[in-house]
Amino acid sequence: MNSGYDVIIGLEVHVELKTQSKLFCSCSASFGAEPNTHTCPVCLGMPGVLPVLNEEAVAYAVKAALALRCTVHPFSKFDRKQYFYPDLPKAYQISQYDQPLAEYGAVPIIVDGHVVKEVTVRRIHMEEDAGKLNHLGIRLGDAKGSLVDLNRAGVPLIEIVSEPDMRSADEARLYLTELRNVLSYLDISDLRMEEGSMRCDANVSLRPHDYVGSLEDLPRVEIKNVNSIRNVQRGIEYEVARQAELLARGERIVKETRGFDDQNGRTYSQRSKEEANDYRYFPEPDLPPLVLTQEAIERVARSLPPAPTVLREELQQAGVTAKEAEIIVGDRALWEYWREATTHYEDKRQVTNWILSDLSRLLNAHGDTWLTPRVTPAALADLLRLIANGTLSGRMAKEVLDRMYESGATAAQTVEAMGVSQITDHGAIQAVVQQVVADNPHVVQDYLNGKEKALGFLVGQVMKQTKGQAKPDMVNAILKGVIADYAKT
Ligand SMILES: [Zn+2]
Repeated sequence: MNSGYDVIIGLEVHVELKTQSKLFCSCSASFGAEPNTHTCPVCLGMPGVLPVLNEEAVAYAVKAALALRCTVHPFSKFDRKQYFYPDLPKAYQISQYDQPLAEYGAVPIIVDGHVVKEVTVRRIHMEEDAGKLNHLGIRLGDAKGSLVDLNRAGVPLIEIVSEPDMRSADEARLYLTELRNVLSYLDISDLRMEEGSMRCDANVSLRPHDYVGSLEDLPRVEIKNVNSIRNVQRGIEYEVARQAELLARGERIVKETRGFDDQNGRTYSQRSKEEANDYRYFPEPDLPPLVLTQEAIERVARSLPPAPTVLREELQQAGVTAKEAEIIVGDRALWEYWREATTHYEDKRQVTNWILSDLSRLLNAHGDTWLTPRVTPAALADLLRLIANGTLSGRMAKEVLDRMYESGATAAQTVEAMGVSQITDHGAIQAVVQQVVADNPHVVQDYLNGKEKALGFLVGQVMKQTKGQAKPDMVNAILKGVIADYAKT
């Protein structure tokens, strides 16, 4: 990068847990309802009410912590983080401060299917979400107003805090990609950055090579609430360039919180950064500490699905390349499709080829995802069987797949409707081959003179005349035989 400094990046990721109800009350935690319909005295912060901890949320949080290879503490506690904001009616947020649920895990950074680095997860804690402000520019007399929606107030969150281990915007992107990937297999969150069910704050600082202090003392800029992985990367890139320019001019970097404007790709100053002691944390008096037995933690551990790194290895053992495995495991729905297709059809190599080339192409062209493929894994397997038994050539099968994707019909129905099937009749192919040889004596002579490519041209002519339906390996064999006879004459 630049010779004068290192880029130091740490990420804080908030993940909304998709529990039935909120963290401390029985209101629905679902997204997208009419504003302020999922509220009650507890999440509205009325006086005299008491929070009750949601066990499902704890189970989800433990699941995430174990999947991220953290140590889950048998004893953790909740604390009040005091601050005023219009979307926070209690004027404090229940969070976990000095004794979080879990600590010291890791997220691998994967490049081309291989682990190239591990980023340490410093801590994972549970907390409640705040509400949401809608700045619609509503006019109240002469004043401008905003609306508050408290449906989100009290929805359970986990905050995943990394060590400042990342050294480039690219590493930050890869960390977030794998973090989301690991969590996607747990079914604990929608993980939609654009809807806010996964949110990322990025801490960025530059460490000059002659700097001798601790990382903590470096002036750090926090980029808040960026709404996509791509924008986290862009925000960091901008911020690194901005800070480098300040350093180059001999100016100081101010510790602050900045927003990211995705229209022009820039960060902008929001406020000076708070310190932990600004929040006046103290233990939440209305909740007992969170105590987890070893047995309860182990029960969750046993229920965990295999980690993506394990799935990638399994795929590679099945003959899938590292790069292909990264693509497949990187999308849980795609991995499930692959897994199901390979239970219907044994040749995993063939399944992988068709999924990653032709089926992916069709999905992209139609704007579909692997959650809603129009050709089921079983239907794809049927198609592959028609290739294996010689009914279809690979080229015909591509056309059949295109039609299947449009119509939703089975491979057999489509083949029948199209009236295509492979020509495997020896005599029929031989007749066409003889004609092609007779029509192209110069090309045949070229081949006999050692020009291998000439054979390809002749094969192409045969395929053209049979509308691609002649069985390719038969065409090759028969063509060579006919040419051999031709040479003798
Ligand atoms: Zn409520």
